[in-house]
Amino acid sequence: MPVTMEKLVSLCKRRGFIFPGSEPYSGLAGTYDYGPLGVELKNNIKRAWWKRVVQQRDDIVGLDAAILMNPKVWEASGHVAGFADPLVDCRKCKARHRADTLEPPGACPQCGSEDLTDARPFNMMFRTFVGPMEDTASQTYLRPETAQAIFVDFPSILATARKKLPFGVAQIGKAFRNEITPGQFLFRLREFEQMEIEYFVKPADWERVFAEWLQFMQDWMAACGIAPERYALREHADDERAFYSKRTIDIEYHFPFGQKELYGLAYRTDYDLTQHAQHSKQDFSYFDEVTKERIVPHVIEPSVGVDRMVLAVLLEAYHEIEGGRSTTTESTKEAEVVLKLPKELAPIKVAVLPLSKKEPLAAKAQEIVRELRTRWMVAYDDVASIGRRYRRQDEIGTPYCVTVDFASLEDGKVTVRDRDTMTQDRIAIPDLVGHLSDLLGC
Ligand code: ATP
Repeated sequence: MPVTMEKLVSLCKRRGFIFPGSEPYSGLAGTYDYGPLGVELKNNIKRAWWKRVVQQRDDIVGLDAAILMNPKVWEASGHVAGFADPLVDCRKCKARHRADTLEPPGACPQCGSEDLTDARPFNMMFRTFVGPMEDTASQTYLRPETAQAIFVDFPSILATARKKLPFGVAQIGKAFRNEITPGQFLFRLREFEQMEIEYFVKPADWERVFAEWLQFMQDWMAACGIAPERYALREHADDERAFYSKRTIDIEYHFPFGQKELYGLAYRTDYDLTQHAQHSKQDFSYFDEVTKERIVPHVIEPSVGVDRMVLAVLLEAYHEIEGGRSTTTESTKEAEVVLKLPKELAPIKVAVLPLSKKEPLAAKAQEIVRELRTRWMVAYDDVASIGRRYRRQDEIGTPYCVTVDFASLEDGKVTVRDRDTMTQDRIAIPDLVGHLSDLLGC
Protein backbone atom coordinates (compact mmCIF):
# COMPACT_ATOMS: atom_id res chain seq x y z
CA MET A 1 0.00 0.00 0.00
CA PRO A 2 1.55 3.35 -0.97
CA VAL A 3 2.24 5.66 1.95
CA THR A 4 0.09 8.75 2.38
CA MET A 5 1.54 12.12 3.37
CA GLU A 6 -0.61 12.03 6.48
CA LYS A 7 1.03 8.82 7.69
CA LEU A 8 4.53 10.02 6.93
CA VAL A 9 4.06 13.41 8.59
CA SER A 10 2.63 11.69 11.63
CA LEU A 11 5.58 9.27 11.90
CA CYS A 12 8.03 12.15 11.50
CA LYS A 13 6.41 14.06 14.33
CA ARG A 14 5.82 11.08 16.60
CA ARG A 15 9.38 9.80 16.36
CA GLY A 16 11.19 13.13 16.35
CA PHE A 17 12.31 13.35 12.75
CA ILE A 18 10.66 16.60 11.72
CA PHE A 19 8.40 19.15 13.45
CA PRO A 20 6.73 22.33 12.21
CA GLY A 21 8.99 25.34 12.90
CA SER A 22 8.02 27.68 15.82
CA GLU A 23 5.35 25.20 16.85
CA PRO A 24 4.30 26.69 20.23
CA TYR A 25 3.54 29.93 18.36
CA SER A 26 1.28 28.20 15.81
CA GLY A 27 4.21 27.61 13.48
CA LEU A 28 5.62 29.70 10.65
CA ALA A 29 4.44 28.64 7.20
CA GLY A 30 7.14 27.13 5.04
CA THR A 31 9.52 26.25 7.88
CA TYR A 32 10.24 22.89 9.51
CA ASP A 33 12.74 21.84 12.17
CA TYR A 34 14.71 18.61 12.03
CA GLY A 35 14.56 16.82 15.39
CA PRO A 36 17.08 14.37 16.88
CA LEU A 37 16.51 11.66 14.26
CA GLY A 38 15.81 14.04 11.38
CA VAL A 39 19.09 15.86 11.76
CA GLU A 40 20.96 12.53 11.61
CA LEU A 41 19.11 11.48 8.45
CA LYS A 42 19.65 14.86 6.80
CA ASN A 43 23.34 14.97 7.76
CA ASN A 44 23.80 11.43 6.44
CA ILE A 45 22.26 12.42 3.10
CA LYS A 46 24.54 15.47 2.88
CA ARG A 47 27.59 13.43 3.92
CA ALA A 48 26.86 10.66 1.41
CA TRP A 49 26.50 13.23 -1.38
CA TRP A 50 29.67 15.11 -0.37
CA LYS A 51 31.58 11.84 -0.26
CA ARG A 52 30.52 11.01 -3.82
CA VAL A 53 31.01 14.45 -5.34
CA VAL A 54 33.99 15.90 -3.45
CA GLN A 55 35.87 13.23 -1.49
CA GLN A 56 35.88 10.52 -4.16
CA ARG A 57 36.60 12.74 -7.16
CA ASP A 58 39.62 14.63 -8.35
CA ASP A 59 37.73 17.14 -10.45
CA ILE A 60 35.43 18.76 -7.85
CA VAL A 61 36.26 21.02 -4.91
CA GLY A 62 33.98 22.20 -2.12
CA LEU A 63 32.80 25.63 -1.03
CA ASP A 64 30.86 27.07 1.90
CA ALA A 65 30.00 30.66 1.07
CA ALA A 66 28.16 33.37 3.02
CA ILE A 67 24.38 33.48 2.75
CA LEU A 68 24.40 37.28 2.69
CA MET A 69 25.99 38.70 -0.43
CA ASN A 70 26.45 42.12 -1.94
CA PRO A 71 23.07 43.00 -3.56
CA LYS A 72 24.89 43.68 -6.83
CA VAL A 73 25.31 39.89 -7.14
CA TRP A 74 21.54 39.55 -7.48
CA GLU A 75 21.34 42.37 -9.99
CA ALA A 76 24.02 40.72 -12.12
CA SER A 77 22.43 37.27 -11.88
CA GLY A 78 19.03 38.58 -12.99
CA HIS A 79 17.28 37.69 -9.73
CA VAL A 80 16.32 41.28 -8.82
CA ALA A 81 14.64 41.77 -12.17
CA GLY A 82 13.29 38.31 -12.81
CA PHE A 83 13.12 35.91 -9.85
CA ALA A 84 9.37 36.14 -9.59
CA ASP A 85 6.28 33.98 -9.61
CA PRO A 86 2.92 35.29 -10.90
CA LEU A 87 0.66 36.43 -8.05
CA VAL A 88 -3.13 36.87 -8.11
CA ASP A 89 -5.49 38.21 -5.44
CA CYS A 90 -8.99 36.92 -4.89
CA ARG A 91 -11.26 40.01 -4.75
CA LYS A 92 -13.84 38.07 -2.75
CA CYS A 93 -11.89 36.44 0.12
CA LYS A 94 -8.65 38.47 -0.30
CA ALA A 95 -6.49 35.34 -0.41
CA ARG A 96 -3.32 35.44 -2.52
CA HIS A 97 -2.27 32.63 -4.78
CA ARG A 98 0.34 31.63 -7.31
CA ALA A 99 -1.43 32.10 -10.65
CA ASP A 100 0.20 29.20 -12.48
CA THR A 101 -0.81 26.55 -9.95
CA LEU A 102 -4.50 27.43 -9.40
CA GLU A 103 -6.69 24.39 -8.82
CA PRO A 104 -9.23 24.58 -10.49
CA PRO A 105 -7.60 26.90 -13.06
CA GLY A 106 -8.90 30.47 -13.01
CA ALA A 107 -10.62 30.13 -9.63
CA CYS A 108 -9.66 30.88 -6.03
CA PRO A 109 -8.66 27.58 -4.34
CA GLN A 110 -9.93 28.98 -1.04
CA CYS A 111 -13.46 30.23 -1.86
CA GLY A 112 -14.00 29.19 -5.49
CA SER A 113 -14.59 32.73 -6.75
CA GLU A 114 -13.45 33.53 -10.27
CA ASP A 115 -13.15 37.22 -9.46
CA LEU A 116 -9.36 37.35 -9.46
CA THR A 117 -6.98 40.21 -10.21
CA ASP A 118 -4.63 39.98 -13.19
CA ALA A 119 -1.43 38.13 -12.39
CA ARG A 120 1.54 40.33 -11.49
CA PRO A 121 5.14 39.30 -10.79
CA PHE A 122 6.04 38.73 -7.14
CA ASN A 123 9.77 38.63 -6.39
CA MET A 124 10.50 35.70 -4.12
CA MET A 125 13.71 36.98 -2.57
CA PHE A 126 13.61 37.79 1.13
CA ARG A 127 14.85 41.32 1.75
CA THR A 128 16.89 42.29 4.76
CA PHE A 129 19.09 45.15 5.92
CA VAL A 130 22.79 45.06 6.63
CA GLY A 131 24.08 47.38 9.33
CA PRO A 132 22.15 49.83 11.52
CA MET A 133 20.36 51.73 8.71
CA GLU A 134 17.12 50.40 7.26
CA ASP A 135 17.22 52.15 3.90
CA THR A 136 17.58 51.04 0.31
CA ALA A 137 21.35 51.59 0.42
CA SER A 138 21.69 48.91 3.11
CA GLN A 139 19.17 46.48 1.65
CA THR A 140 20.25 43.04 0.55
CA TYR A 141 18.70 39.61 0.18
CA LEU A 142 18.90 36.18 1.71
CA ARG A 143 20.26 34.06 -1.11
CA PRO A 144 17.52 32.28 -3.10
CA GLU A 145 20.03 29.68 -4.39
CA THR A 146 23.54 28.62 -3.48
CA ALA A 147 24.79 28.69 -7.08
CA GLN A 148 25.64 32.38 -7.40
CA ALA A 149 28.33 32.25 -4.71
CA ILE A 150 30.10 29.59 -6.74
CA PHE A 151 30.13 31.86 -9.79
CA VAL A 152 31.23 34.87 -7.77
CA ASP A 153 34.07 32.87 -6.19
CA PHE A 154 35.11 31.33 -9.51
CA PRO A 155 38.21 33.59 -9.97
CA SER A 156 39.44 32.83 -6.41
CA ILE A 157 38.90 29.10 -6.81
CA LEU A 158 40.59 29.11 -10.19
CA ALA A 159 43.57 30.93 -8.71
CA THR A 160 43.97 28.60 -5.75
CA ALA A 161 42.62 25.13 -6.51
CA ARG A 162 44.96 24.34 -9.43
CA LYS A 163 42.21 22.73 -11.50
CA LYS A 164 42.01 22.44 -15.25
CA LEU A 165 38.78 22.28 -17.24
CA PRO A 166 36.59 20.39 -16.84
CA PHE A 167 36.18 20.85 -13.10
CA GLY A 168 33.40 21.59 -10.66
CA VAL A 169 32.60 23.29 -7.39
CA ALA A 170 30.13 21.75 -4.95
CA GLN A 171 28.25 23.49 -2.19
CA ILE A 172 25.63 22.51 0.39
CA GLY A 173 23.78 25.33 2.07
CA LYS A 174 20.61 27.16 2.95
CA ALA A 175 18.52 29.04 0.43
CA PHE A 176 15.47 31.18 1.08
CA ARG A 177 12.47 31.84 -1.13
CA ASN A 178 9.36 33.72 -0.12
CA GLU A 179 7.14 31.17 -1.86
CA ILE A 180 3.59 32.42 -2.41
CA THR A 181 2.13 29.10 -1.37
CA PRO A 182 4.47 26.93 0.68
CA GLY A 183 3.15 23.49 1.50
CA GLN A 184 3.20 19.75 1.03
CA PHE A 185 5.43 19.29 4.07
CA LEU A 186 9.11 19.49 3.08
CA PHE A 187 8.36 19.95 -0.62
CA ARG A 188 7.84 23.68 -0.85
CA LEU A 189 9.58 25.52 1.97
CA ARG A 190 10.56 29.14 2.47
CA GLU A 191 13.84 28.13 4.11
CA PHE A 192 15.50 25.04 2.65
CA GLU A 193 18.83 23.54 1.75
CA GLN A 194 20.37 22.85 -1.63
CA MET A 195 23.20 20.63 -2.80
CA GLU A 196 24.51 22.22 -5.96
CA ILE A 197 27.38 21.66 -8.34
CA GLU A 198 28.55 24.10 -10.96
CA TYR A 199 30.62 22.07 -13.36
CA PHE A 200 32.78 24.19 -15.69
CA VAL A 201 33.51 22.88 -19.18
CA LYS A 202 34.88 23.94 -22.54
CA PRO A 203 31.87 24.90 -24.69
CA ALA A 204 32.40 22.00 -27.11
CA ASP A 205 32.15 19.42 -24.29
CA TRP A 206 28.81 20.40 -22.83
CA GLU A 207 26.70 17.62 -24.35
CA ARG A 208 28.96 14.81 -23.18
CA VAL A 209 29.26 16.25 -19.68
CA PHE A 210 25.50 16.87 -19.49
CA ALA A 211 24.91 13.17 -20.23
CA GLU A 212 27.49 12.14 -17.60
CA TRP A 213 25.76 14.20 -14.93
CA LEU A 214 22.37 12.83 -15.85
CA GLN A 215 23.81 9.37 -15.19
CA PHE A 216 25.41 10.51 -11.92
CA MET A 217 22.07 11.86 -10.73
CA GLN A 218 20.38 8.53 -11.40
CA ASP A 219 23.16 6.68 -9.57
CA TRP A 220 22.61 9.01 -6.63
CA MET A 221 18.88 8.27 -6.67
CA ALA A 222 19.75 4.55 -6.45
CA ALA A 223 22.10 5.21 -3.50
CA CYS A 224 19.15 6.88 -1.77
CA GLY A 225 17.06 3.75 -2.24
CA ILE A 226 14.90 5.22 -5.01
CA ALA A 227 14.19 2.82 -7.88
CA PRO A 228 13.96 4.15 -11.47
CA GLU A 229 10.24 3.39 -11.72
CA ARG A 230 9.60 5.82 -8.87
CA TYR A 231 10.68 8.83 -10.91
CA ALA A 232 10.63 10.22 -14.45
CA LEU A 233 13.05 12.32 -16.46
CA ARG A 234 11.35 15.36 -17.92
CA GLU A 235 12.94 17.55 -20.57
CA HIS A 236 11.91 21.20 -20.39
CA ALA A 237 10.30 22.60 -23.54
CA ASP A 238 11.86 25.64 -25.23
CA ASP A 239 9.30 28.07 -23.81
CA GLU A 240 9.65 26.71 -20.28
CA ARG A 241 13.41 26.93 -19.80
CA ALA A 242 15.09 29.86 -18.09
CA PHE A 243 16.25 32.22 -20.87
CA TYR A 244 19.96 31.50 -20.22
CA SER A 245 19.55 27.72 -20.27
CA LYS A 246 20.07 25.75 -23.47
CA ARG A 247 18.87 22.46 -22.01
CA THR A 248 17.15 21.43 -18.78
CA ILE A 249 16.08 17.99 -17.59
CA ASP A 250 14.36 17.44 -14.26
CA ILE A 251 14.15 14.26 -12.28
CA GLU A 252 10.54 14.21 -11.13
CA TYR A 253 9.67 11.95 -8.24
CA HIS A 254 6.22 10.38 -7.88
CA PHE A 255 5.22 12.17 -4.67
CA PRO A 256 1.80 11.24 -3.21
CA PHE A 257 0.61 14.69 -4.36
CA GLY A 258 1.86 14.24 -7.94
CA GLN A 259 4.94 13.91 -10.11
CA LYS A 260 7.13 16.89 -9.15
CA GLU A 261 10.67 18.19 -9.47
CA LEU A 262 13.21 16.74 -7.10
CA TYR A 263 16.49 17.22 -8.96
CA GLY A 264 17.31 19.56 -11.85
CA LEU A 265 20.06 19.47 -14.46
CA ALA A 266 20.65 22.62 -16.49
CA TYR A 267 23.14 23.72 -19.12
CA ARG A 268 23.57 27.39 -18.15
CA THR A 269 26.03 28.26 -20.95
CA ASP A 270 28.49 31.05 -19.99
CA TYR A 271 25.63 33.29 -18.85
CA ASP A 272 26.51 33.63 -15.16
CA LEU A 273 30.26 34.09 -15.45
CA THR A 274 29.77 36.62 -18.25
CA GLN A 275 27.21 38.55 -16.23
CA HIS A 276 29.49 38.75 -13.20
CA ALA A 277 32.45 39.74 -15.36
CA GLN A 278 30.43 42.59 -16.87
CA HIS A 279 28.89 43.82 -13.63
CA SER A 280 32.00 43.54 -11.43
CA LYS A 281 34.46 44.47 -14.20
CA GLN A 282 36.66 41.61 -13.00
CA ASP A 283 38.20 38.79 -14.99
CA PHE A 284 36.14 35.58 -15.00
CA SER A 285 37.97 33.92 -17.89
CA TYR A 286 40.09 30.77 -18.01
CA PHE A 287 43.41 30.46 -19.81
CA ASP A 288 43.81 27.23 -21.73
CA GLU A 289 47.51 26.26 -21.56
CA VAL A 290 47.20 23.93 -24.56
CA THR A 291 45.48 26.18 -27.08
CA LYS A 292 46.84 29.40 -25.48
CA GLU A 293 43.32 30.80 -25.60
CA ARG A 294 41.31 32.68 -23.02
CA ILE A 295 37.71 31.46 -22.74
CA VAL A 296 34.74 31.91 -20.44
CA PRO A 297 33.85 28.37 -19.34
CA HIS A 298 30.34 27.02 -19.85
CA VAL A 299 28.43 25.50 -16.96
CA ILE A 300 26.47 22.32 -16.30
CA GLU A 301 24.46 22.53 -13.08
CA PRO A 302 23.02 19.53 -11.22
CA SER A 303 20.96 20.96 -8.35
CA VAL A 304 18.95 19.12 -5.73
CA GLY A 305 17.01 20.23 -2.68
CA VAL A 306 18.11 18.43 0.50
CA ASP A 307 14.66 18.64 2.06
CA ARG A 308 12.93 17.26 -1.03
CA MET A 309 15.52 14.48 -0.99
CA VAL A 310 14.76 13.75 2.69
CA LEU A 311 11.07 13.59 1.80
CA ALA A 312 11.61 11.23 -1.14
CA VAL A 313 13.96 9.00 0.90
CA LEU A 314 11.40 8.73 3.71
CA LEU A 315 8.49 8.04 1.34
CA GLU A 316 10.52 5.36 -0.39
CA ALA A 317 11.62 3.74 2.87
CA TYR A 318 8.19 3.68 4.52
CA HIS A 319 6.68 0.19 4.65
CA GLU A 320 3.60 -0.71 6.60
CA ILE A 321 2.89 -4.32 7.40
CA GLU A 322 -0.76 -5.00 8.11
CA GLY A 323 -1.26 -7.22 11.14
CA GLY A 324 2.41 -7.07 12.07
CA ARG A 325 5.35 -9.25 11.08
CA SER A 326 4.78 -12.90 11.81
CA THR A 327 7.97 -13.69 13.68
CA THR A 328 7.95 -10.85 16.19
CA THR A 329 7.76 -12.27 19.68
CA GLU A 330 4.43 -10.62 20.35
CA SER A 331 1.64 -10.53 17.82
CA THR A 332 -0.17 -7.23 18.27
CA LYS A 333 -2.24 -7.48 15.10
CA GLU A 334 -1.46 -3.79 14.74
CA ALA A 335 0.07 -2.51 11.53
CA GLU A 336 3.84 -2.27 11.93
CA VAL A 337 5.97 0.34 10.26
CA VAL A 338 9.42 -0.57 8.96
CA LEU A 339 11.55 2.24 7.57
CA LYS A 340 13.76 0.45 5.07
CA LEU A 341 16.30 3.23 4.78
CA PRO A 342 19.60 2.57 3.00
CA LYS A 343 22.03 1.69 5.81
CA GLU A 344 24.30 4.61 4.94
CA LEU A 345 21.41 7.01 5.60
CA ALA A 346 19.83 5.46 8.70
CA PRO A 347 19.92 7.89 11.67
CA ILE A 348 20.82 5.15 14.16
CA LYS A 349 22.99 2.32 12.87
CA VAL A 350 22.77 -0.05 15.83
CA ALA A 351 20.49 -0.40 18.88
CA VAL A 352 21.72 -2.28 21.93
CA LEU A 353 18.95 -4.01 23.86
CA PRO A 354 19.65 -5.80 27.14
CA LEU A 355 17.05 -8.42 27.87
CA SER A 356 16.81 -7.16 31.43
CA LYS A 357 17.45 -3.79 33.05
CA LYS A 358 19.21 -5.52 35.93
CA GLU A 359 22.92 -6.02 36.55
CA PRO A 360 25.13 -7.55 35.41
CA LEU A 361 23.32 -7.52 32.03
CA ALA A 362 22.95 -3.73 31.93
CA ALA A 363 26.66 -3.17 32.61
CA LYS A 364 27.61 -5.63 29.85
CA ALA A 365 25.26 -3.88 27.40
CA GLN A 366 26.61 -0.45 28.33
CA GLU A 367 30.15 -1.68 27.74
CA ILE A 368 29.11 -2.73 24.22
CA VAL A 369 27.39 0.62 23.62
CA ARG A 370 30.57 2.50 24.61
CA GLU A 371 32.61 0.58 22.09
CA LEU A 372 30.10 0.86 19.22
CA ARG A 373 29.63 4.61 19.83
CA THR A 374 33.19 5.33 18.78
CA ARG A 375 32.08 4.39 15.25
CA TRP A 376 28.34 4.80 14.83
CA MET A 377 25.22 6.46 16.19
CA VAL A 378 23.96 3.91 18.71
CA ALA A 379 20.71 3.72 20.67
CA TYR A 380 20.29 2.00 24.02
CA ASP A 381 16.83 0.79 24.95
CA ASP A 382 15.89 -1.28 27.97
CA VAL A 383 12.22 -0.35 28.21
CA ALA A 384 9.37 -2.79 27.47
CA SER A 385 9.39 -6.22 25.86
CA ILE A 386 12.03 -7.14 23.30
CA GLY A 387 9.39 -7.39 20.53
CA ARG A 388 8.19 -3.88 21.24
CA ARG A 389 11.77 -2.61 21.25
CA TYR A 390 12.47 -4.22 17.88
CA ARG A 391 9.38 -2.50 16.50
CA ARG A 392 10.51 0.88 17.84
CA GLN A 393 13.83 0.46 16.02
CA ASP A 394 12.17 -0.83 12.82
CA GLU A 395 10.00 2.27 12.78
CA ILE A 396 13.02 4.59 12.70
CA GLY A 397 14.99 2.43 10.27
CA THR A 398 17.76 1.11 12.54
CA PRO A 399 19.44 -1.61 10.44
CA TYR A 400 20.71 -3.78 13.34
CA CYS A 401 19.69 -4.56 16.90
CA VAL A 402 22.14 -6.21 19.28
CA THR A 403 20.42 -8.15 22.04
CA VAL A 404 22.34 -8.92 25.20
CA ASP A 405 20.76 -11.81 27.10
CA PHE A 406 21.60 -14.02 30.07
CA ALA A 407 23.40 -16.50 27.86
CA SER A 408 25.71 -13.64 26.78
CA LEU A 409 27.19 -13.66 30.28
CA GLU A 410 28.00 -17.36 29.88
CA ASP A 411 29.12 -17.69 26.25
CA GLY A 412 30.28 -14.09 25.54
CA LYS A 413 27.96 -13.87 22.52
CA VAL A 414 25.15 -11.49 21.55
CA THR A 415 22.32 -11.73 19.02
CA VAL A 416 22.46 -9.47 15.96
CA ARG A 417 19.05 -9.02 14.39
CA ASP A 418 18.57 -7.67 10.87
CA ARG A 419 15.80 -5.06 10.31
CA ASP A 420 14.77 -6.28 6.85
CA THR A 421 15.17 -10.06 7.03
CA MET A 422 14.64 -10.36 10.81
CA THR A 423 17.33 -13.06 10.83
CA GLN A 424 19.20 -13.40 14.10
CA ASP A 425 22.86 -14.42 14.39
CA ARG A 426 24.88 -15.18 17.50
CA ILE A 427 28.14 -13.25 17.34
CA ALA A 428 31.06 -13.35 19.79
CA ILE A 429 31.40 -9.94 21.46
CA PRO A 430 35.05 -9.44 20.37
CA ASP A 431 33.92 -9.97 16.73
CA LEU A 432 30.94 -7.61 16.96
CA VAL A 433 32.57 -4.42 15.61
CA GLY A 434 34.05 -6.26 12.61
CA HIS A 435 30.79 -8.07 11.95
CA LEU A 436 28.72 -4.88 12.03
CA SER A 437 31.29 -3.03 9.88
CA ASP A 438 30.93 -5.70 7.22
CA LEU A 439 27.15 -5.56 7.40
CA LEU A 440 26.88 -1.77 7.44
CA GLY A 441 29.61 -1.17 4.89
CA CYS A 442 30.46 2.04 6.68
P1 ATP B 1 9.89 24.60 -8.38
O1 ATP B 1 9.58 24.64 -9.86
O2 ATP B 1 9.35 23.38 -7.68
O3 ATP B 1 9.56 25.89 -7.67
P2 ATP B 1 12.50 25.36 -9.10
O4 ATP B 1 12.57 24.89 -10.52
O5 ATP B 1 12.28 26.80 -8.85
O6 ATP B 1 11.46 24.47 -8.27
P3 ATP B 1 15.32 25.29 -8.74
O7 ATP B 1 15.45 26.77 -8.79
O8 ATP B 1 15.72 24.51 -9.94
O9 ATP B 1 13.82 24.91 -8.36
O10 ATP B 1 16.05 24.77 -7.43
C1 ATP B 1 16.84 23.59 -7.39
C2 ATP B 1 16.30 22.58 -6.40
O11 ATP B 1 16.05 23.19 -5.14
C3 ATP B 1 14.96 21.98 -6.82
O12 ATP B 1 15.15 20.87 -7.67
C4 ATP B 1 14.37 21.56 -5.50
O13 ATP B 1 14.82 20.26 -5.13
C5 ATP B 1 14.92 22.57 -4.52
N1 ATP B 1 13.89 23.60 -4.20
C6 ATP B 1 13.53 24.66 -4.94
N2 ATP B 1 12.59 25.38 -4.33
C7 ATP B 1 12.33 24.75 -3.16
C8 ATP B 1 11.44 25.02 -2.07
N3 ATP B 1 10.64 26.09 -2.05
N4 ATP B 1 11.44 24.15 -1.02
C9 ATP B 1 12.26 23.06 -1.00
N5 ATP B 1 13.11 22.78 -2.00
C10 ATP B 1 13.16 23.61 -3.07
